[in-house]
Amino acid sequence: MKFIDLNRQYQAYKQEIDEAIAQVLESGVFILGPVLEELEQTLAAFVGVQQAVGIGSGTDGLILSLMTLGIGPKDIVITTPFSFFATVGAILLLGARPVFVDIDPLTYNLDPTLLSQTIEACQEKGEKPKAILPVSLYGQCADMDEIQETARKSGIPVIEDACQSFGATYKNRRSCGLSLMGVTSFFPSKPLGAYGEGGMIFTNDPELADELRSLRVHGQKQHYQHTSIGLNARLDAIQAAVLLTKFKHFPKEIVRRQERAMTYGSLFQQYLPEIQLPYIKPDRTSVFAQYTIRIPDGKRTFVVEHLKARGIPTAIHYPTPLHMQPACSHLNIPPGSFPNAEQAAKEVLSLPMHPFMLVQEQEMVVTAIKEALAKGH
Ligand SMILES: *Cc1c(COP(=O)(O)O)cnc(C)c1O
Repeated sequence: MKFIDLNRQYQAYKQEIDEAIAQVLESGVFILGPVLEELEQTLAAFVGVQQAVGIGSGTDGLILSLMTLGIGPKDIVITTPFSFFATVGAILLLGARPVFVDIDPLTYNLDPTLLSQTIEACQEKGEKPKAILPVSLYGQCADMDEIQETARKSGIPVIEDACQSFGATYKNRRSCGLSLMGVTSFFPSKPLGAYGEGGMIFTNDPELADELRSLRVHGQKQHYQHTSIGLNARLDAIQAAVLLTKFKHFPKEIVRRQERAMTYGSLFQQYLPEIQLPYIKPDRTSVFAQYTIRIPDGKRTFVVEHLKARGIPTAIHYPTPLHMQPACSHLNIPPGSFPNAEQAAKEVLSLPMHPFMLVQEQEMVVTAIKEALAKGH
């Protein structure tokens, strides 16, 4: 069994994908170009925003979006301690200082109540955070309206790290279109995945979009005229063609992901009702980038090993909270500072999840977890 079976997906769309790639090869246009423009327009319409800018990866997107806000050395960016490293990596790379806000232990997303307290604490020290970077983890949007409301009062812009939540809805709107900028990733294992690296930034602000288009080509405004210092962070045409083809099937795949999540839900209800399952708030839908449960009491390692022996892969998203990463040691944030994130890091376990998973496979997963828990250590 595969954690995410990309081969089944390829076999299902093989002919269309091969043709789309062949067309790019015939065209001779490999970087930027009309296919990327079509993808940008298609995905902007899907998200419900005016502008979409294709970029080299989700990480590039985080860096470039922070750059457009002028984030630099010593600036404060507020974010969550429970995410993939890229979230904090982008902040640190620009020389800025991450200030963390603990998560809601049910959704694993930044807790908006703690956010206002953190902003107040900064203000008491005479510091003004320059941006807020919430993450929509595992495919479910963070509490974007509460975060936006708090941010608006203090005049702080919000960027959604939507690298795992492309396609998710929030109060009938789409992830990526819920704040000043939304950044997603097309890494192969993400809900909408390319066959290589890729990402996109969404915004309703045409000036920001222009700046992003310039920054992704070394800050170039006209040919060989550089008005700022940017990156080489473009989405290539082959990836754009793959994404356009896969996007045709994406709405159907989202439904299948949600069906797989429901099936896991009822299997756990039947076999292991005590397990904490993903909690999706009633005003939103998840694209289940991950299907993540909790295995408490130090039994996780045993469960992982037991499943592995039965050919069932699992993953831990994420074993170390960001403030406890060696790369963050200079921040001097002691363990215990973000108890919800630290507890989650000890307990979370992501199970195989993709639109082509079979119910029988899901049954195998849940029965194997039941066996492991019955055996204990
Ligand atoms: C995957 C991911 C990123 C980075 O995206 P890449 O395309 O791999 O650079 C950033 N943040 C989160 C939350 C992610 O899951």
